[in-house]
Amino acid sequence: MKLRPLSSILISKKFNDSFSFIEDDESKDPTWTPEFVGPNDVNNNNATKERKFIVFESCIEKLIQNCRNCGQDLACLKSVKDSFLSVSGHCVNCNDVFEWESQPQFGTLLVGNLIIAAAILFAGCNVRKILRLFQHASIQTFSERTFNNLQTLYLIPTITSVYRFKQNQLFREIKESGHPLRVGGDAWCCYPGYTAKYGSYSVMDLTRLKILDIQLVQELEGLKRCLAFLMEEGLKLSNCHIW
Ligand SMILES: [Zn+2]
Repeated sequence: MKLRPLSSILISKKFNDSFSFIEDDESKDPTWTPEFVGPNDVNNNNATKERKFIVFESCIEKLIQNCRNCGQDLACLKSVKDSFLSVSGHCVNCNDVFEWESQPQFGTLLVGNLIIAAAILFAGCNVRKILRLFQHASIQTFSERTFNNLQTLYLIPTITSVYRFKQNQLFREIKESGHPLRVGGDAWCCYPGYTAKYGSYSVMDLTRLKILDIQLVQELEGLKRCLAFLMEEGLKLSNCHIW
């Protein structure tokens, strides 16, 4: 599978044009069509670290009820999509145009959506519980389907990319050391007697205490695949402890 780094992906997503509040709903999720764009489209590296706030709608209303120029009453229209709010208004007195968005976007990808989805996944949280929490607190966010799309299109490819990069770095270090590997292997399975036949098999460098490879298969097959992979990579084994 060809990995697609975040900077090279743009999700085309049609927003609802109507200037009204839209309740997020599984059945109303738009169709996502990923397309490639140039590498310079994602420059805002501080978006993740930037502080975000939970703001009440009534508090936003206070900010937008008057024209910034002349102070006249301003009739603003609001549009909500997932965690995104945009406000636009036009002053009939001085013709000033007011436009505001609650979060940055990469193309049509909502940065807030991506950051929340990444935070849920990287924290190991149950997405349904987190989304229910948002729902109970009336905090606007995306649906589970949108989360799954973000996970498939961005998060998993990014994790895989970083994992492979670190793995190659480790292999290079091992080869340069010139010493054969001392590896240990073991399997992680679900509840014994239930699906214990299947699980993840991992082998570890017992000198550096780092995982070398993980295979998601049956226990013995996992060991075979891990060892075959290490030998394919040109790593020499001195002994192997199997549990
Ligand atoms: Zn005005």
